[in-house]
Amino acid sequence: MTIFRGKGIGQGIAEGRIWVYTDKETQVMRVNITDAEAEVRRFRAAVELAGKQLQALYEQARETVGEEEAVIFDVHQMMLEDDKFNDSIEGLIRNEQVNAEYAVAETGEYFANVFAAMEDDYIKERAADMKDVTKRVIGILRGEEREVGAGSVSSFGDTGQFGCEESDNGVIVVAEDLLPSQTVQLDRSKIRGFVTIKGSETSHTAILAKTMGIPALVGVDFTIEEMAAMDGKTGAVDGEQGVFWIEPKEQVLAVLQSRMEVARKVLDSYEQFRGQETATSDGRRIELCANVGNLKDLEHALQNDAEGIGLFRSEFLYLEREDYPTEEQQFEIYMQALEKMSDKPVIIRTLDIGADKQSPYMELAEEKNPTMGCRGIRVCLQRPEIFKTQLRALFRAASVGNLKIMYPMITSVKEIKWIKAIVQEIKEELISEGVAFKEPEQGIMIETPAAALISDELAKEVGFFSIGTNDLTQYTLACDRENGDLGQFYDAHHPAVLRLVAMTVENAHKAGIPVGICGELAGDVSLTDEWIRLGVDELSVAPGSILKLRGLIREL
Ligand code: PEP
Ligand code: MG
Repeated sequence: MTIFRGKGIGQGIAEGRIWVYTDKETQVMRVNITDAEAEVRRFRAAVELAGKQLQALYEQARETVGEEEAVIFDVHQMMLEDDKFNDSIEGLIRNEQVNAEYAVAETGEYFANVFAAMEDDYIKERAADMKDVTKRVIGILRGEEREVGAGSVSSFGDTGQFGCEESDNGVIVVAEDLLPSQTVQLDRSKIRGFVTIKGSETSHTAILAKTMGIPALVGVDFTIEEMAAMDGKTGAVDGEQGVFWIEPKEQVLAVLQSRMEVARKVLDSYEQFRGQETATSDGRRIELCANVGNLKDLEHALQNDAEGIGLFRSEFLYLEREDYPTEEQQFEIYMQALEKMSDKPVIIRTLDIGADKQSPYMELAEEKNPTMGCRGIRVCLQRPEIFKTQLRALFRAASVGNLKIMYPMITSVKEIKWIKAIVQEIKEELISEGVAFKEPEQGIMIETPAAALISDELAKEVGFFSIGTNDLTQYTLACDRENGDLGQFYDAHHPAVLRLVAMTVENAHKAGIPVGICGELAGDVSLTDEWIRLGVDELSVAPGSILKLRGLIREL
C-alpha cells in the first residue's frame, strides 16, 4: 500500500481501479525493434480492429444521430485504408526498425500537417480526423481500447460510489493534469474519482469534479514515473482529507467504508431541507441555485432541489465537441435545458472560452499570458459570428422557459454597448427572417476588479449581476487560479476581494438590480452569514452543496 497526499476537492470517498490518463498524442516513445515483420503484423492487426470499431461506431451513430453525422466514421475508415498512409507506416517500421506506435504517430502527424496546409477548407478540416484515426490505432497497439473522445469505444465498467455496489469496475482517473476540454469529454457516468499532480481548488477541472459530485484530489505529490506504475491497480480517494491510497489494505478500506456510512447519514440528514424555503430564521429569502456545465448536470441540479440554474457554463458545449455547435444544435440544448427546469430561472452564460479552456478547432492565437488575453467576452466581440450564432439560439429558445443571459469577463461600459449593438443586429436579422424569438433578461458577471470598481455605472446598463469570485480573486490578487503552487497566495478571503464583493452588492442594490454570487465562494459556508449580511440575493453552487447550504441559511 502506498499513500499520497494532495488537496481534497468534492465530496466523499471513492474506491476503484486506477486509470492513468496520458495525452497519448504527445507521449509516443520511439523504441528500436529487432523483428520488423512481426511489428508490421502487429500494426496490421491494429488497423483491422480499428476498422471494426469504426464500422460499429458508424452504425451506432447512424441509428442515433443519423447518416449525416455518422459519415465521419466512414471518412475515418477510408483514411485507415489509404495505401499511402499504410505504406508510409510499414516503410518506417522496416527501414528504421522502429515500433509501430512511433511509426503511426510520425505518419499521422505528417499527413495531418499536409491536410492542415491545404487551401481547401474541407481538406484542411480533415487534419483533426487524421489525428483521431492515429490516436485510435496507437491506443489499440498499446492495448488501450478505452478512450476519452466523444463517440469513442469505451471499456470502462459500471461505476458506483465506494461500498454502494459489489462491482469494482469504476475507475479513478489519474493524470498529471486535466484540461477542462479533456475532463468534459470523459464519460462521467464511469468515473469514481479524479487525482492529478497539478491543478488547484478553483481550476475548472476541480470545479467540474465538484459539479459532478465526484471526489477529487489536486496537487498530489507523486511523480510521473510513480503515476505510470499505478495504472490498473486499485486505489482509494478521500476527497475530504486529501489522501490517495494505492492498493489500500483491508483495514484502510474498512475505515473508509465506515466513514462513508457516516457521510451518507449526514447527507441523509440534509434531506429534511428538500422542498423547504431558503430563508433565514427572520425571513430573508435567498435564491439557491446550481452551477452546471451541461444537460446531465441539470438532472443532478434537480435531484438536489436547486431553485434554478445560476450559472450554466455554456463553453462546455463547445469544449466537448470537435467543431462549433451550430445554431440548431445549441437551440435544441437550450430548449431542453429550459424545458427540464420548467419555470425555474436558468442563467446561461455566453461562451467563456480562452485561458485554460481551449478548443483546438477555434484556433485561438497562442498567447504568452492567456489568462490576461483573449478570453470570455473578448473572443465573442472579436469574433462576432460565433457570438451571434449563440445569441440567435438563445433568443429563439427564450420563449420556452425562464431564460436569462449572462456575459462573462466584462471590464467596461464600452463592452456592454458593443454587446447591445450585436444583440440589436441579431434581433433585426431574426425579425427580417420571420423567426420567432423573445428577448431574455441580460446581466453580467462581475469577475474583474475593473467591473467591481465601476459596478455603479455597469448596474445602470444591465438587468442583474452575478459575482464570479474565482476570477475576481485571481485578478485582484494577481494570482493564477490554475497554479496549485500559489495556493498560499490565492486567498479568496482576502479583504480586497471581500471589499469588491461588498461594493458590487451595494451598487447593484442602489441601482435596483439583483446580485448573486456564482464563484466558489458562494458555497463557502464560513462566509454564508457575510453574504446574508451584505444582502446578496442569490447563491449559485455545485448541485451537491444545495441542501446543506439551505439548512445552514435556515438557521441564520
Ligand atoms: C468565476 O470566475 O468565479 C466563475 C464563476 O466563472 P468560472 O469559474 O467559470 O471562470
Ligand atoms: Mg470566471
